[in-house]
Amino acid sequence: MKRVILFGAPGSGKGTQAEAIEKRFGYVKVSTGDLIRAEVRMQSKIGLEVKATIDKGELIPDHVILGLLKKRLQKDDILNGYIVDGFPRTLAQAIELSQMKVDSEIAIYLKIGNESVIVQRLLSRLTCPRCNAIFSMINNPPKVEGVCDSCGIALRQRTDDNAETIRNRISIYREQTKPVISYYREKGMLMEIDASLPVESVFKQIEEIL
Ligand code: AMP
Repeated sequence: MKRVILFGAPGSGKGTQAEAIEKRFGYVKVSTGDLIRAEVRMQSKIGLEVKATIDKGELIPDHVILGLLKKRLQKDDILNGYIVDGFPRTLAQAIELSQMKVDSEIAIYLKIGNESVIVQRLLSRLTCPRCNAIFSMINNPPKVEGVCDSCGIALRQRTDDNAETIRNRISIYREQTKPVISYYREKGMLMEIDASLPVESVFKQIEEIL
């Protein structure tokens, strides 16, 4: 079983590229952000506990996200391989992930130097609350304005895609998530990609690696 770890700042295109990899290679996209948002929508105990943290753009505790990820990875659909989107975000999470054994593994770092690109991408992002598909009002608009191409229901802007929360998410990324880059680099499993390019060009680079 292969594991592809997609790594990068908020707005670097992890979710969009994970969707494309899923379509092309058949590996299943596992997004910890989608898992936690599903809990919030269901108003489960976990969902109610973490909603405010997500809305502030802060990280939810390692043990909570790890519990959700482990439960998701029990499903058989991942047996051909899976893509982790949004995990690990701390060194502790990276170490936990390394203990979940797979046959082969690669970490792809979607690098964006210019912060204004990140902010603009996040402010223009729309997502489907049912299938989690990601659109952009600018780069990747749905066929019908405001409506999901597959589900036909209204797209939404994420509650954490607002200017203040975005600023917080970027600084948390710098402080808590960036050290994970060195971890993968030292293990010799990090591939860096220029993620400021258009979606198709970024995907081409990923295709070559995979
Ligand atoms: P994302 O969809 O990856 O941007 O994640 C949205 C929010 O979910 C984050 O800002 C965090 O609050 C929470 N979250 C997602 N993945 C993790 C993780 N691996 N560790 C901690 N919090 C996470």
